[in-house]
Amino acid sequence: MSNSLRIAVPNKGRLEEPSAALLRQAGLRFERTERSLAVPVAHSSIELLFVRTEDVVELVTDGVAGLGITGLDLVEESGLEPVVEAELGFGRCRLAAAVPEGSDALGLADFDGLRVATSHPNVVSRFFADKGIAITTVALRGSVEVAPKLDVADAVVDLVSTGSTMLVNGLRPIVTLLESQAVLVAGPGGPSTDLAKTVATMVRSVVVARKKRYVLMNAPHSSVVEIEDIIPGVESPTVVPLAHDGMVAIHSVVDTDEVWQVLPRLEQAGASGILVLPIEQMLS
Ligand code: AMP
Repeated sequence: MSNSLRIAVPNKGRLEEPSAALLRQAGLRFERTERSLAVPVAHSSIELLFVRTEDVVELVTDGVAGLGITGLDLVEESGLEPVVEAELGFGRCRLAAAVPEGSDALGLADFDGLRVATSHPNVVSRFFADKGIAITTVALRGSVEVAPKLDVADAVVDLVSTGSTMLVNGLRPIVTLLESQAVLVAGPGGPSTDLAKTVATMVRSVVVARKKRYVLMNAPHSSVVEIEDIIPGVESPTVVPLAHDGMVAIHSVVDTDEVWQVLPRLEQAGASGILVLPIEQMLS
């Protein structure tokens, strides 16, 4: 098993497409035909196992797969203890407790004695038990948000990303139990082979790169100090002389979130021909 690696990947749902895109960006080449469970990765001894998102943690902790991609909420719900190798920056959501609009409940303490519908019964039981609040969990696989209308429950704990589903169903959020996003997981003890470690590093390099942009520009040599102040780069910007007297090309790496603030300042400092490029992978 040391020279081969199975990676458990969601076969459908919200995490399916971004997980495959991440692995492709990390350099893995594969053709997935519909309904295929095991897909070989070209030029490697890696195999992707396309499975249900909620089965990933089990497969990884059992050692069936060396790595896996799933939601942090499902790691918490599983009660198992895989090692979270990287947070992947997609599939962001939160597990929120909410009550119907008309409910008297204002805070957590008001959940005492309520029936709480949820797709995450383990997380919910642990959370309320820790707080000494007695609830009854009603475990549902889907459509958690309609449970109060059907009088199956008095409150819900459900995954929310925008909050619009809760709003549409007349639910008022009270508290967030956990923040979640997609994660790369390995079995207890972490990646056990060099190949698994390499893939984890490649995946991490993509996650880091997505938060950065490569910025190139020309500028008069006299502006370098001011520009360096605006874009300090990973260590320091690269400054290359141009053929024309007194002009240089400056290259640097900027946080994606800051690009829109940085560009006008660079222009003001005398930069021209500014290019902003995506970075495929980055190890710092
Ligand atoms: P799936 O049910 O296969 O679409 O995937 C569910 C997983 O997607 C959850 O366990 C979360 O980790 C993640 N997710 C992200 N946003 C949401 C959301 N708004 N509702 C449900 N799941 C979400």
